[in-house]
Amino acid sequence: MPIDFGFTPEQEELRASVREWCQKEIAPLVDEMEAKEEFNKGLVAKFKKKFLNMWIPKAYGGTEADTVDICIVAEEVGYVCGSCLTLLEVGGLGCLPIVIGGTEEQKKRFLPPIASGEKFYGFALTDEGPGSDPANMKLRAEKKGDEYILNGMKRLISNCDISHSILTFAKTDPSKGARGISAFLIDIGTPGFVVGKRLWGWGIKVHHTNELEFHDCRVPADRLIGKENEGFIYAMKCLDRTRLVLAAGNVGIARASFDIAVKFAQERIAFGKPISENQAISFKLAEIATEIEAARLLAYKAAWLDNKKVRHTTETSMAKWYACELARKSAEAAVKILGGYGWSKDYPVMIHLHDALGFINAQGTTEIHKMVISRAIFD
Ligand SMILES: Cc1cc2nc3c(=O)[nH]c(=O)nc-3n(C[C@H](O)[C@H](O)[C@H](O)COP(=O)(O)OP(=O)(O)OC[C@H]3O[C@@H](n4cnc5c(N)ncnc54)[C@H](O)[C@@H]3O)c2cc1C
Repeated sequence: MPIDFGFTPEQEELRASVREWCQKEIAPLVDEMEAKEEFNKGLVAKFKKKFLNMWIPKAYGGTEADTVDICIVAEEVGYVCGSCLTLLEVGGLGCLPIVIGGTEEQKKRFLPPIASGEKFYGFALTDEGPGSDPANMKLRAEKKGDEYILNGMKRLISNCDISHSILTFAKTDPSKGARGISAFLIDIGTPGFVVGKRLWGWGIKVHHTNELEFHDCRVPADRLIGKENEGFIYAMKCLDRTRLVLAAGNVGIARASFDIAVKFAQERIAFGKPISENQAISFKLAEIATEIEAARLLAYKAAWLDNKKVRHTTETSMAKWYACELARKSAEAAVKILGGYGWSKDYPVMIHLHDALGFINAQGTTEIHKMVISRAIFD
C-alpha cells in the first residue's frame, strides 16, 4: 500500500477519549482560568498525571507515546484551551533533553517523577539577547571543582510557577558558540537562583512566563545533563518534537474558531437569509477549511516521519509556522464573521486570536522557521 492518510482504530480511540477528557476536565474551567489569568491547580495535577507520561520511555515509568499520538492529544487540548497546550509542550521541553542526552543515572533519577505526574520541569533557553539566536546566549556556567557557578539571566520562561526544576542552558565554553552550551537541571529554591519578574502577555495568558536570575548560583556537577558542551544538540533534537505540539495544537485552535464561525454564519440572519449564504462569508470559511486540512497534513506528516526515525527538521518548521499563522487567520476570520460578538467576551474567538499570536512567537518565530526551510532549499 503506497500511501495511507487514515488514523488507526487505536489513534481514533485515543482522539475520542482525549476529546471527552478535555470536555469534562478542562472546558468547564476555561472561563474562570482566563478571567483569573492562572491555571486551576487541580487541573494541572490531573493533566500532568494523565499526559506527561507520554514523553517518558517505558523503562522510566512512562508510556513512551509516539509523536502522532502526542499530536492527537495536542490538537484536542488546543481546541479547548490554548494555555493548557503549554502544559503538554513545556512538559516535553523540560524532560526530552534528559531522555535524549542524560546519563542512565540521571534518567532513573529525574524521569520517573515526571511520568508519575509528581513533578514538572520548565525549559530555559531564551536569554537576554535575541531568542532567535540562542547560540549566542549570555548565561555563563563556569566549572569550579565539583560545581558549576552560573551568572546571568533568562527571560520568557514558561510555567515556572508550576515547575519544580528548570532545565537551563548556559555557556560552558563561550569561545565555541553553539558547541559551547551545556544543559543543567536546576531546582527552584537553589541558592542564587531566583524566579524573577513576570512578563505579562495578551495571549496564552492562563500560563505565565518569568525572568530567571542567576547570581553566583552553585549547581552540583551531577546536574549537568549528559555531556558538557552538548546541550545545544539536545535542545535542537528536543525542539524537533515539541514544535509539533504547537503545530498540532494550533490546528486545534484554528478548528475551534472555525467551528464557532460556521455555526454563527448559519444562525445569523441578515437581509432575510443566513450570512453563510453570502460568498464573502462562505468562501472565507472554504479557504480556512482548506488550510486546516493542509496544516493537519503537515503536522501529522512530520510526526509520522518522527515515528519512522527519519529526520524532519524542515517538515516540522513547515508545520509549525503554517499552523500557528493559520490559527491566527482562522481566529481573525471568526472575529470578523461574528461582527460585534467577535469583539465581545461572549465568544472566545479573541482569546484564540491572542493565543495564536503568542504561539507564533514561541519555539521559533515564523521568520526563523522560514529560515530553516530556505536553508534546506538552497543547501
Ligand atoms: C508565550 C511565549 C512563551 C515562551 N516560553 C519560552 C520558554 O518556556 N523557554 C524559552 O527558552 N523561551 C520561551 N519563549 C521565548 C521564545 O522562544 C522567543 O520569544 C523566540 O525565540 C523569539 O525570540 P525574541 O522574543 O528574543 O525575538 P527576537 O529573536 O529578538 O526576534 C525579533 C524579531 O526579529 C525576527 N528575526 C530575528 N532574526 C531574524 C532573521 N535572521 N531573519 C528574519 N527575521 C529575524 C524574529 O522573527 C522576530 O520577528 C517564549 C516566548 C513566548 C512568546
